[in-house]
Amino acid sequence: MTSNATSSPLSQAHLLPVFARADVAFERGEGAWLIGTDGERYLDFTSGVAVNALGHAHPHMVAALQEQATKLWHMSNLFKSPDGERLAARLCEQSFADFVFFANSGAEAMECAIKVTRHYHFSKGHPERTRIITFEGAFHGRTLGTLAATGAAKYLEGYGTPLDGFDQLPLGDIEAVKKAIGPNTAGILIEPLQGEGGVRAPSNAFFGALRELCDKNGILLIFDEVQTGMGRTGELFAYQRIGVTPDVMSLAKALGGGFPIGACLVTAEAAEGMAPGSHGSTFGGNPLAVAAANSVLDIMLKPGFFDHVKKMSLLLKQKLAGVVDGHPDVLSEVRGEGLLIGLKAVVPAGDLVAALRDAKLLTVGAGDNVVRFLPPLIVSESEIEQAVQRLEQACVALGSSAKTSAKTQGAA
Ligand SMILES: *Cc1c(COP(=O)(O)O)cnc(C)c1O
Repeated sequence: MTSNATSSPLSQAHLLPVFARADVAFERGEGAWLIGTDGERYLDFTSGVAVNALGHAHPHMVAALQEQATKLWHMSNLFKSPDGERLAARLCEQSFADFVFFANSGAEAMECAIKVTRHYHFSKGHPERTRIITFEGAFHGRTLGTLAATGAAKYLEGYGTPLDGFDQLPLGDIEAVKKAIGPNTAGILIEPLQGEGGVRAPSNAFFGALRELCDKNGILLIFDEVQTGMGRTGELFAYQRIGVTPDVMSLAKALGGGFPIGACLVTAEAAEGMAPGSHGSTFGGNPLAVAAANSVLDIMLKPGFFDHVKKMSLLLKQKLAGVVDGHPDVLSEVRGEGLLIGLKAVVPAGDLVAALRDAKLLTVGAGDNVVRFLPPLIVSESEIEQAVQRLEQACVALGSSAKTSAKTQGAA
């Protein structure tokens, strides 16, 4: 019953073993569904870790990419990019930003955010302002710079002295932030909702207080929306839901709907001093990536798109809360916003992910013993119901006696 029966063991043996891959492979997808090489249909609540926001093989995206593939695959940044200009203009029109830099991944978008933040102070005559305040549980990427910003010992170990310039503080501790801001501070970097860290967020008031501190101290507020951006939390950008506007924002995961593209969005003021030569990328703004991202926006900007996300979010959260109530020996809490939902597990989160996979529901583990439910934003009511049934099944398989615990609760 090995699911990768069609691929020889040799084809696997040469991938650098940095991922603990589950023993299953997929050959195609349709909306919220993935079809395994074993012929089984899986309900995909990973969305490629918040990437395939419009599901798999969305006809509009397929057509856009096919059309672009017949025209231009790559064009260097030596020349103008009308489609890139259009994508940047649309992103700015929908956000606080005045300028966009295109990259190829989340980490690269974050690298740009960090560089812009340092360069802003450099161009204002304060080259000493290089330090950025970050928060525990953060995830900003795997390059040496973003890894230092992430600050997790388990990822940093073995890679030498981390890049200097990040001061990590407890999430939500505004007094610690006030104390940490000094003459060398350049900005504050935070995810509106931590994804990898376990679907955790401080209060909206904390974000508001960060904004005030940034304004008071002349430093920049940077939001890492690589995971929360592009509709994941129920608005196009999570900052819009929180009601606090950053100066710099990184995007990636869902921006291309599955085609690699990242972006760093900045205000005109934050971008001051960025000039030809200040930053660059060979592939950034690649025509295929730009076509994919424009096609994602075509769908997301249609009236009612985010109403659907919010409606599905409410339904999923309510149903998950019901399962949590019925299985207190397996699950303890539902958290998150939009369709970035975390289930805190009592059993090891990895066991729950495996049991869900056995029930043909794909989910993603996160920090803090949380399992992430990241359905595509186009998920239907019936697919949510099927996912919840599969969760119920997995809870039973994990040794929970649903009826007993429900009775116990009812009797209490
Ligand atoms: C995934 C992620 C990144 C890194 O993106 P890559 O494309 O893997 O480099 C950075 N920040 C956040 C919040 C993420 O979720």
